[in-house]
Amino acid sequence: MVSKRLQSVPASGTVKIANLVSQMKADGVDIVSFSMGEPDFNTPDNIVESCVKSVRDGFTHYTPSMGIAPLRKAIADDAVRKGIPCKASNVLVTPTKQAIFMIALAYLDPGDEVLLPDPTWVSYEAVIRLAGAEPVYVNTRFENGFVIDPADVEAAITPRTKMLIINSPSNPTGCVQPEKVLREISKICADRGIKVMSDEIYEHVIYEGKHFPMASFKDSFDNTLTVSGLSKTYAMTGWRVGWVIASEEDIKAINKLQTHSITCCTSFTQPAAVEALTGPQDSRRTMIAEFKKRRDLALDLVNDIPGLECNKPDGAFYLFPKYDIDMKSADLAERLLQEGHVAVTPGRAFGPAGEGFFRISYATSESQIIEGFSRIKKGLARL
Ligand code: GLU
Repeated sequence: MVSKRLQSVPASGTVKIANLVSQMKADGVDIVSFSMGEPDFNTPDNIVESCVKSVRDGFTHYTPSMGIAPLRKAIADDAVRKGIPCKASNVLVTPTKQAIFMIALAYLDPGDEVLLPDPTWVSYEAVIRLAGAEPVYVNTRFENGFVIDPADVEAAITPRTKMLIINSPSNPTGCVQPEKVLREISKICADRGIKVMSDEIYEHVIYEGKHFPMASFKDSFDNTLTVSGLSKTYAMTGWRVGWVIASEEDIKAINKLQTHSITCCTSFTQPAAVEALTGPQDSRRTMIAEFKKRRDLALDLVNDIPGLECNKPDGAFYLFPKYDIDMKSADLAERLLQEGHVAVTPGRAFGPAGEGFFRISYATSESQIIEGFSRIKKGLARL
């Protein structure tokens, strides 16, 4: 029997669908997948070459648990350019999901409450529960483009509120929270000593508007834990390189968990990560420009399907359309996959407010986008 802790959470909704798609493809079924949030591009050559050289040079041993010094410095320099007042000693290198997991374990106790926007990415609720704490959803509305109302955050705070999780640009809605909203939320949390975990993994995947790091706001560095990584920006999902930026005290605490879990991030990916951050950035820009074209194409196609309504997202690579069929999103996704051979992620996986929606990851080729939407259109017409 697995622990009660593990029983309290479902498997990841995003990874579950992706695994199913892999299995169906391996069985020879022609599937168009809009499921996993990962760029279809290959990692740029300069980064790959750097990694290969490291392996050949024998850079295949443990590294310091916090990460190699040049990488910690490159991450800190990059953060300073974005307005985060930090040094290399404020950086811990670790895969981004591991960072989120360790932060939950490091700061949450049973009985603590964690505020998080609804809808939001699938694994936050799970890690909160695994740490024994309670998620408290702050509703956001389709009609407002899923922008958070700071008054709703304020109203949800209780004496047990320990942390707030924010993810802008957002997975699954693509909403880029306006600067004013982020500033207000950051002040509310700083004034009350509520820790902010700001997941900024889509920080560079922005088409309109600008990214504002939570830790760059006045008086917020000390209570903000910024997590980010290379996966989405440099098409490096399989490399598992990310980081936490926080006060030295927080970094030491999280590092304790790192030493007892993965020890360190993979060694030979770290010099390559330095190359990603400090080398030429043209591939990154080309990829983001391509995502913008695909966003526009996908939006035209989704709006052409009767019964679907969708906001224009300013960032990330997801559409989150609302459907008018009386069916649970899990059942709808299941039928689209089994009967229509197109994979989407059910909106309910992203929190209670996600029911009645589904998520499309358009980080795939234009031809797949066109074919996938044609299958969605036919599939929905059959339901
Ligand atoms: N973050 C991506 C997604 O939402 C990858 C899978 C995951 O980590 O959930 O699809």
